[in-house]
Amino acid sequence: MGDYIKRLLIAGIIALCVSLLFLGGKHPQASMLDKNGKEKIDWIWPADGVISDTFGTRQGRHKGIDIAGEINSPIFAVDGGIVEKSYYSNSYGNVIFIKHPSNYVTVYAHLSNRLVQEGQKVAKGYIIGKMGRTGQATGVHLHFETHEINWTYDKRYALNPVNLLGEAKLGEIVQAGTNNVKSVLEATSDFVYIVRVGDTLSSIAD
Ligand SMILES: [Zn+2]
Repeated sequence: MGDYIKRLLIAGIIALCVSLLFLGGKHPQASMLDKNGKEKIDWIWPADGVISDTFGTRQGRHKGIDIAGEINSPIFAVDGGIVEKSYYSNSYGNVIFIKHPSNYVTVYAHLSNRLVQEGQKVAKGYIIGKMGRTGQATGVHLHFETHEINWTYDKRYALNPVNLLGEAKLGEIVQAGTNNVKSVLEATSDFVYIVRVGDTLSSIAD
């Protein structure tokens, strides 16, 4: 009887391993739920570069994250949505606001060029502009903000973009088109057993 249970357990573990491998191969993109557990958020970094400033610095006045990169490098929409604003402001410089179906609003500032117009529908990864240093910017970088529901002048709905893109520290290199959110496989790695040379089925079961 004990042997039978052991065999059942082994079969179960193997099935789990195979299904996890299959899952990992089929869905390499990371995903997560928002705070309501409803919308699936699967954003990508909007630019290639180095994190040159983080959220909440400058006595809490910095309501975004800075990615320093090359002048005129492409800026990508982190997710699909509608271009809510595309204009020049003295502080943001060339700036684009995108409203996403998840109700988040993303802001891309200091662009050298804007390639989209208000009301335009954009897909995730669409090139919306080029990196620059227009407006109040000390160097070439993308200033990126994330707001829940709406952008307001006091930025009260701003939240840290790394909540949606995965943890990224000052000085870290980020790559457009990817994110730092842990994948399903990594997040459940406690339950994955990697078979090594010399393993037997009963040693795995144990
Ligand atoms: Zn900034």
